[in-house]
Amino acid sequence: MNAQARNSTPIIEALSLHKSYGKHEVLKGLDLSLDRGEVVALIGPSGSGKSTFIRCLNMMEIPTGGTVRFRQKTVGDHFRDKGGEIGIGTLRRHVGMVFQHFNLFPHKTVLQNVTEGPIVVCKTPRKEAEERAMDLLSQVGLAEKHGAYPNHLSGGQKQRVAIARALAMEPEVLLLDEVTSALDPELVGEVLSVIRGLAEKGMTMAIVTHEMAFAADVASRVLFLDQGVIAESGSADQVILNPQNPRLQGFVSRFR
Ligand code: ADP
Ligand code: MG
Repeated sequence: MNAQARNSTPIIEALSLHKSYGKHEVLKGLDLSLDRGEVVALIGPSGSGKSTFIRCLNMMEIPTGGTVRFRQKTVGDHFRDKGGEIGIGTLRRHVGMVFQHFNLFPHKTVLQNVTEGPIVVCKTPRKEAEERAMDLLSQVGLAEKHGAYPNHLSGGQKQRVAIARALAMEPEVLLLDEVTSALDPELVGEVLSVIRGLAEKGMTMAIVTHEMAFAADVASRVLFLDQGVIAESGSADQVILNPQNPRLQGFVSRFR
């Protein structure tokens, strides 16, 4: 965490967030407040609601109860900003997301994947978008691959392009959902080191991960999600290294 970049004004918050699919209540009232520059790790068993939670944070899933706040304003379930509320469009523009399965455009080059959002959504002039994309590709170590198509890249390279693509929108918050889970073990490190670099630069992030050592290393706070509630939260020391909750003890012991 970059102490300088951090201050105690929440940039994104979830207040008593609920999400049900039919009768199945997946999120049962979650609270989270993320300060600028803060890195939070979300851990928990499969099916506990981690993906649903971070998808609700950028309104890819519409919560069935509770509130998401961005820059201390309520986010409405409408696309445009109105009546003092932030719309989903503005929220998504500033809250980037990276997925387990990259979701790159297969028919576009690496450079085109990274420039697409700025050109189409932000109307950035192509030349400017390309210059910035090349900077970002250098940051993730892939400048020389700018003309390649995604199916000619390794999984680790694809994921680094996906991260550069998210950064091209200059997000204020980055949400990462198990971004190394689909990778061969030898490719995990290169992606984690890019994320670690972002944390050091003060990027605000919520990271769903099963990489316990990584979570303990980069996150200022770790949340354990279990059956749709935050069953434990605290420093990595408290949550990962000295868990009190028996279900959490069982969970983390599987990663030792
Ligand atoms: P995690 O990411 O922790 O593995 P998820 O958020 O993906 O958990 O899923 C939590 C629960 O919500 C699971 O029981 C899952 O089956 C259910 N779920 C997730 N998405 C949907 C959906 N679109 N429709 C119905 N159920 C869903
Ligand atoms: Mg998930």
